[in-house]
Amino acid sequence: VLRTTFGYESFRPHQAEIVDAALAGRAVLAVMPTSAGKSICYQVPALVLAARGTGLTLVVSPLISLMADQVGALRQAGVAASFLNSTLSASERASVLHGVASGALALLYVAPERLDDPAFLECVSARGVGLLAVDEAHCISQWGNDFRPSYQRIIDFVDRLRPPVMALTATATRAVRRDIHEALGLRDPLVVLASFDRPNLSFAVARPHGAAEKDRTLVAFCRQRAERSGIVYCSSRRAVEEVCELLRDEGLLATRYHAGLTPEERERNQDDFLYDRSRVMVATNAFGMGIDKSNVSYVVHYNLPLSLENYYQEAGRAGRDGTRAECLLLYSPGDVHTAEFLLSRSEPREDLTPEQRAVLAERDAERLRQMVFYATTTECLRAHILRYFGEEASAYCGNCSNCLTEFEEVDATTDALKVVSCVARIAQRGRSAGAATVVDVLRGSRGEKVLRRGFDTLSTYGIMADVPTRRVRAILDELVFRGVLARTAGDYPTIG
Ligand code: ZN
Repeated sequence: VLRTTFGYESFRPHQAEIVDAALAGRAVLAVMPTSAGKSICYQVPALVLAARGTGLTLVVSPLISLMADQVGALRQAGVAASFLNSTLSASERASVLHGVASGALALLYVAPERLDDPAFLECVSARGVGLLAVDEAHCISQWGNDFRPSYQRIIDFVDRLRPPVMALTATATRAVRRDIHEALGLRDPLVVLASFDRPNLSFAVARPHGAAEKDRTLVAFCRQRAERSGIVYCSSRRAVEEVCELLRDEGLLATRYHAGLTPEERERNQDDFLYDRSRVMVATNAFGMGIDKSNVSYVVHYNLPLSLENYYQEAGRAGRDGTRAECLLLYSPGDVHTAEFLLSRSEPREDLTPEQRAVLAERDAERLRQMVFYATTTECLRAHILRYFGEEASAYCGNCSNCLTEFEEVDATTDALKVVSCVARIAQRGRSAGAATVVDVLRGSRGEKVLRRGFDTLSTYGIMADVPTRRVRAILDELVFRGVLARTAGDYPTIG
């Protein structure tokens, strides 16, 4: 089937063992990167099962556009495949169900909501389900990047029809894998964890101080690579506009992409980038899905992504051709506020209960914290990413900015205690203060904010007068990152 239908001479890593397990009726949990060939894992068994007359293969997918693409490609290869979703008319749906009942269809793609539909249930249980493939299985977990409550109801279908289940996903931390395992009721599954390592990518974090230095860092980076293709991700439309203009002013062939542009301009700019008429694409995360440009030689993040899942997916668009490529994150602590603001402003999801929303908000905050750890760690960046996704990794890769930098570790306990006690003294007076004011008090500033509030009479006033402001602030930020101190949300965040 692999050769005659799909035209491949041999399986790629892990595919054969997954196909064997599926044909033997064993449950499978497969975590494989996007490019690893996940769909072959259920498409090949689907055709074998159909030929044996052992039932239909159902593929659950949340993405309507992807369903249509896959079915189109399968039909071109001569496979009897179809999909059922809300875009079909009643008569189209009836004809698909007829294909199921008559045994003509080998593969059917459905949205998860369909599995509850009584007419559908009756039709597929009469035919028999040889395999239930759950794609994007991380959607089942509230720890995942894209939680969908409808995925949690797949188990009802599984309990009713007891088909062999294959769960597939391209990103799953340990917690997400456990959720998939439990929520789909997988019994003794074959668990396949393909490596997420991309050895041709180098990782770097730069920590410029202030906006001007950040811009200079970016310009210098892009200039040194003016002949190569790169993507610069920003977190807002406004940042895209500003950064694109900045790069153009420097004579770089930059273009832009975000949801605020007309569809015509988006398409034109995207084509300019794909065909190398533009070298740098400055974009929000709206850019990249379904874009297959293999010679992107760098990806810069101008703002902090909201999670390592997002970061690794976007950074991973570099070096698809296997040649050396670079991933750079520009990090300044102020970015954390912006990211928190973006999280707080995200649209409340109608499909979630208030409890689910609360759980998700907490997990979003935790994922952002993990992202900040990545931006501030002095340990191997690659190891940090791989371990986040539950993979073993050596502590030294030799191809990231931390492995290639010699850090000097310093014991900052005494200074950290001074910062914490200053915050405590302010609180004892029933007051609160922002990070800048706390630093001013410690440094013994005669600033108006300090004097007006009488902070110059605190016992901690001026106890760090001999320490540079930047260092006091770095220690305070570090204490916040580590959760020793907390920063309130809002326009005027205070430290407590
Ligand atoms: Zn490293």
